[in-house]
Amino acid sequence: MRYYQAILFFIIIPAIVMSALHGCAVNPATGRRDFVLMSENQEIELGKKYHAEILKQYKIYNNPELQTYVSGIGEELAKVSHRNNLIFRFTVLDSPQVNAFALPGGYIYITRGILAYLNSEAELAGVLGHEIGHVTARHSVRQHSAGTMSSIFSTIIAFKTGSRSYSDLSQILGGSLLAGYGRSHELEADRLGAEYLARTGYAPDNMIDVIGVLKNQEVFAKARAKAEGREINTYHGVFATHPANDKRLREVIAAAKNYQTAAQRPDNRDTYLQMLNSVIYDQSPTQGIIRQGLFLHPDLGIAFKLPQGWRTQNLPDRVLMINQPRDAVIQLTVIDLNKRESPKEFLSQALGNPTPISSRALQINGLDAYSMITESNTSFGKRLTRYVTIFNGNRAYLFAGTVKDNAMMQTLDDTFLKTASGFHRITAAEKELAKPYRITLHTVKRGENYASLAAKTAFPDYREQRLRLINGQYPAGEPKPGATIKLVQ
Ligand SMILES: [Zn+2]
Repeated sequence: MRYYQAILFFIIIPAIVMSALHGCAVNPATGRRDFVLMSENQEIELGKKYHAEILKQYKIYNNPELQTYVSGIGEELAKVSHRNNLIFRFTVLDSPQVNAFALPGGYIYITRGILAYLNSEAELAGVLGHEIGHVTARHSVRQHSAGTMSSIFSTIIAFKTGSRSYSDLSQILGGSLLAGYGRSHELEADRLGAEYLARTGYAPDNMIDVIGVLKNQEVFAKARAKAEGREINTYHGVFATHPANDKRLREVIAAAKNYQTAAQRPDNRDTYLQMLNSVIYDQSPTQGIIRQGLFLHPDLGIAFKLPQGWRTQNLPDRVLMINQPRDAVIQLTVIDLNKRESPKEFLSQALGNPTPISSRALQINGLDAYSMITESNTSFGKRLTRYVTIFNGNRAYLFAGTVKDNAMMQTLDDTFLKTASGFHRITAAEKELAKPYRITLHTVKRGENYASLAAKTAFPDYREQRLRLINGQYPAGEPKPGATIKLVQ
């Protein structure tokens, strides 16, 4: 019996090991057994696949020095993490969104938008440590039950260009990656991030500071949205699930101090601020800039006048214009042409050869164009939609205007056509107008305060509040004479 059992034992072990790889695995960060559906190799493959998708939609911020700096800090943290066998990759994205997120397998992203709100290297390490924590604790990509973006922001037209898949990415971007993972996972990422801070010599309290700064930014954004009577586009939810004074957060940060190494290091505020000097703030020419009622895209070489009184959302993959009652929307997308074809052929194919209610060829400011009205699947349901495609170089621009109620088409079609008809090649004067705002550094002189300094900034509104926010002194702090602070000019 004993002999027999031993054989059985030998046969069974490999099977258990195999199932452990695919089913219940020991979580590297927590030491507990988790139900994980994928192996590490599968996880890395998934990360690689999504990374390519992310880079189709976001541009890498063109500042090699800043990229190297961020990677350097990230790699130091990754080395002391629970999965130091993984290759972590850190990317600064050219996006004004205030966000940081992680893909499975060690791909970590941080936007220049969030960097503007941080005030030291230690705070940057806090954000990176938090994201590394999501990877080490294997908070895998989860599907979001309810989209974080309101339905009007979801794709309003069904595309059949075959050149790229919009739905795939919107699922990723609309899901937990950008919205956070829920309270318990966020707390766990904070705990791990604080531990990695301690292990690299940064004070774990920086985690609390960074959450405070980002929380203030969100509170401000929400208050503004409410005052302006619009919905907030909570693209990011990172750090937003718990307040900075959360008792459990304070407990895990305090516990992280046990990992503090002997060699403590300063927060390196000055080094960090120098790195941020002249970094683009808010909109960038690579994504298009809205100024004086115009949408300007110097990189694509195009411009058009936005419909007056409508709100514009410049998203990574499209521009959305929404009227005040929120019952009409115009969407602009750009598609790389794969072959020589006419605007008519392109549009018919892109829409799956529909039977148009009306259609005609157009010339728009010297560019070949084609327009049609047809019924389409939109976020309002199956609705009349005005399409105008305009060819410029090797790209097709596609305007799609639709309404909540088909009867409204009569009054709104004029606005749809007028907006598309304003499309033109960007002029020299418009290129000049499309210069981005940049972060500059300023040494505070005696007698200066945020109110007086705000007047020197290029913020479009709420100057003093915005200035306090990016300098971590919201709502009522004042800078000390001699201190270096950030301005936006
Ligand atoms: Zn998180």
